[in-house]
Amino acid sequence: MNRIDNIVECDGALILGGGIAGLFTALKLAPMPVTVLSGARAGSAGSSAWAQGGIAAALGPDDDWRAHAADTIAAGAGLCDPAIVELVAQDAPARIADLLDYGAPFDHNPDGSIALGREAAHSKARIVHVKGDRAGAEISATLAARAAATPSIRLLEGFHAVELAVANSRVIGLFARTGSGAGTRLVLLRARAVILATGGLGALYAVTTNPLESRGEGLGMAARAGALIADPEFVQFHPTAIDIGRDPAPLATEALRGEGATLHRRPCHPSPDRGRPQSLPGLPPGHRRRVRAALPHRLRGLPGRRHRSGGAADPGGARRALSHGRYPQRRAGPRLAGRLVGSR
Ligand SMILES: Cc1cc2nc3c(=O)[nH]c(=O)nc-3n(C[C@H](O)[C@H](O)[C@H](O)COP(=O)(O)OP(=O)(O)OC[C@H]3O[C@@H](n4cnc5c(N)ncnc54)[C@H](O)[C@@H]3O)c2cc1C
Repeated sequence: MNRIDNIVECDGALILGGGIAGLFTALKLAPMPVTVLSGARAGSAGSSAWAQGGIAAALGPDDDWRAHAADTIAAGAGLCDPAIVELVAQDAPARIADLLDYGAPFDHNPDGSIALGREAAHSKARIVHVKGDRAGAEISATLAARAAATPSIRLLEGFHAVELAVANSRVIGLFARTGSGAGTRLVLLRARAVILATGGLGALYAVTTNPLESRGEGLGMAARAGALIADPEFVQFHPTAIDIGRDPAPLATEALRGEGATLHRRPCHPSPDRGRPQSLPGLPPGHRRRVRAALPHRLRGLPGRRHRSGGAADPGGARRALSHGRYPQRRAGPRLAGRLVGSR
């Protein structure tokens, strides 16, 4: 580790990550003093601002959390922990109530009830959404504004965390870089507790729908500090990513499939049918995992396909990189200039 240029003392907890998870945790901990540290402006970066469809919760009159849990377990095809599924399904309506309380502008029906959409493997309409498919951006902005106005929350932006600080086998804070070029400084932020809310690791893959900062850096830091990392191969997959040679790949909202849209491809060989879309038999409307399993076979041989895409991700490689404390640095980190933007 290089020379430490500055030490910042944090009262209470230090939360790394200014997405929905970090901001929601900070608001839940209020009035306990909390510092939220992030690279970009809180609420603007990470997957949260990109989320489209909305959040699942059994809120409809014909719905209940047990049905939500059953649909989730069926979609998980043996991979779910039933206790966690039940916890999440049971708590979801209360968390939506929290978000409403913080000011999340969910879409409503003319009669005043919350509008519910249907998506993926859900048997009922239970997706709360904002302005159609702007749930992530709107909820993130709402939470960021609420956090900035909360006296117990300090928002620090423009800090790129690089390592947890460990002393006597305890995490005592983290090291972060701020500034750029010759002006880069290494800062130690000391706190009684550190909460990692750094999002996913989709951007470690050759093609992703996740933002480029979803590199699993928090997982890497935790692994190097001695944490046991569970299930890193569970990475978000969007069957409706559009493969047009861009990374991140643009995404057609998953709500399309929920409303009954099916996946098709054009024939890859010249034929009288050329140009007419072909359905992909066997691709179920709901379960992303089964769609994911079917895709490499269906896409093989399509003209113009690049070898590194089409589900050619290497979860094992990503896991190995994490467990060895390395992760591919294939993208330059953002240029940072730290500043205090919140109150407290
Ligand atoms: C295109 C897309 C559509 C989606 N649609 C939906 C949907 O409809 N419904 C749904 O429920 N979910 C959806 N998701 C998933 C959802 O967005 C994520 O599960 C959720 O936003 C994760 O929130 P988070 O706060 O954990 O992580 P993020 O929002 O990714 O936040 C991570 C934060 O950590 C910061 N960070 C990371 N590393 C560092 C570091 N080293 N130093 C400093 N800061 C760091 C980032 O800058 C960011 O502020 C979608 C995701 C994508 C990409």
